[in-house]
Amino acid sequence: MMETTISRKNVFFAFSPDNQPVARIKQGEVATLETHDCFEGQIRTKEDLLTNLDWSHVNPATGPVYIENTRPGDILRVDLLRIDVGDQASMVAVPGEGALGGMITQMETTILKLEGDELVYKDKIRVPKRPMIGVIGVAPAAGSVANGTPGLHGGNMDCTLIGQGNRVYFTVGVEGALFGAGDLHAAMGDGEIVVCGAETAGEVQFSTQVVNLGGLPTPFVETPELVATIFSAVDVSAAAQGAIEHMAEFLTKFANIPLNDAGMMMSLVGQLKFCQVVDPLATVRFEFPKSVLKQFGFEMPA
Ligand code: CA
Ligand code: CA
Repeated sequence: MMETTISRKNVFFAFSPDNQPVARIKQGEVATLETHDCFEGQIRTKEDLLTNLDWSHVNPATGPVYIENTRPGDILRVDLLRIDVGDQASMVAVPGEGALGGMITQMETTILKLEGDELVYKDKIRVPKRPMIGVIGVAPAAGSVANGTPGLHGGNMDCTLIGQGNRVYFTVGVEGALFGAGDLHAAMGDGEIVVCGAETAGEVQFSTQVVNLGGLPTPFVETPELVATIFSAVDVSAAAQGAIEHMAEFLTKFANIPLNDAGMMMSLVGQLKFCQVVDPLATVRFEFPKSVLKQFGFEMPA
């Protein structure tokens, strides 16, 4: 069977039940999304400053894709099989934007080159390439959420765990799920301090599956080593509390670990981490090791 490729011409700027699907795929089918960078290609050189940007074309996601046989309340697992990024990426520093917006006085754009497994910053500083997806999600059951905003449906979570070889779980809001993704980063640190990672276009090869984990607190991520809850709220404190409570809910309801044990284990081996602190809502994740889940007799479905 020919693999479905969804062109980056098919973009949307808000997750919404009213979006028309641009492709239909079956569960288990492998498909590829081509994605624009978060500026829809408007930043190409260091002379391209954000002052000249058309803001109606920021944070495009490719899709939405209708996933057959998915219904509201289903837990949809998205397996990220391959993430390829372009050969250059951009970063910006902007007065008034991000966690250092009050200190930055000079607007700047810089272009990073990708060479093999490394990114080269200003022809000098080399850091490892670590591709991840900034914006990924499904349509909410009602209402429309701009791609720049994260939430229970996913969206702009900027979670560095959302990379190749890992899995993301969403609660389906509408029939067909209306899945989409964009805003790839060739690398990004936790926090997204100046409101960007190494912004780049790319491709995401993925497959989907409805799994028997009804009621799973989502968004939820699985890597070979760990599971994580992701929660977004008005500030990092509220987001942290949400991520913590979602993990406790997962450990008690799904792994059948008594609450006191779950709490003590979270305190012993859990990791509370910031995804981003700069978007309209802050995003925090709570990571828990699979090796400990296994000792409690629980393993994620294969
Ligand atoms: Ca982002
Ligand atoms: Ca971004």
